[in-house]
Amino acid sequence: MGCQILRTPPLSSSTTITILSKFASLSKPAPTSLFKPHFRPFAPKPITTLTKRSFRGGVLAMAAAPGSFQKSDEEWQAILSPEQFRILRQKGTEYPGTGEYDKFFGEGVYQCAGCGTPLYRSTTKFNSGCGWPAFYEGLPGAINRNPDPDGMRIEITCAACGGHLGHVFKGEGFRTPTNERHCVNSISLKFATENSDASQ
Ligand SMILES: [Zn+2]
Repeated sequence: MGCQILRTPPLSSSTTITILSKFASLSKPAPTSLFKPHFRPFAPKPITTLTKRSFRGGVLAMAAAPGSFQKSDEEWQAILSPEQFRILRQKGTEYPGTGEYDKFFGEGVYQCAGCGTPLYRSTTKFNSGCGWPAFYEGLPGAINRNPDPDGMRIEITCAACGGHLGHVFKGEGFRTPTNERHCVNSISLKFATENSDASQ
């Protein structure tokens, strides 16, 4: 669950960087120990109870979810445009109707503009008429949801790097399989065709 598996198409480039996640090998079962509670009425001295608790891998995995794409603001500023930084890292919003992908309907995958993680398939994009790209569903595990501080809307972020994408709205009556609208800033996304080299 905590491992981010990035599946990239086979590349012809010889400079492919392969990142091997060591988390894959951490899934060994925790030893189960049976403690039989028994009392020793004639114990010579008080027994200090040893509470040996084995930590389960699941807790670790959950904590490690937003992993290797954590960067400082300075590091993000070095790789993002000022507008990308304002929206992705400072939770800004682009003006409606101005985004590159608002009326774009090519076939492929939309990745996070910050870290390159695939977020949405083009098959889930629909024209909401709202002025921002709209998707009815994200790729599994790719997107986190959190209520805004004022409780009015649900913010959506890239699960890998925490980059701000936009907001998700429910029950608006769009004829989509989920009745949800992921309202995403174009600038938070980078489109790639299925067969293109996404690393470029
Ligand atoms: Zn990201």
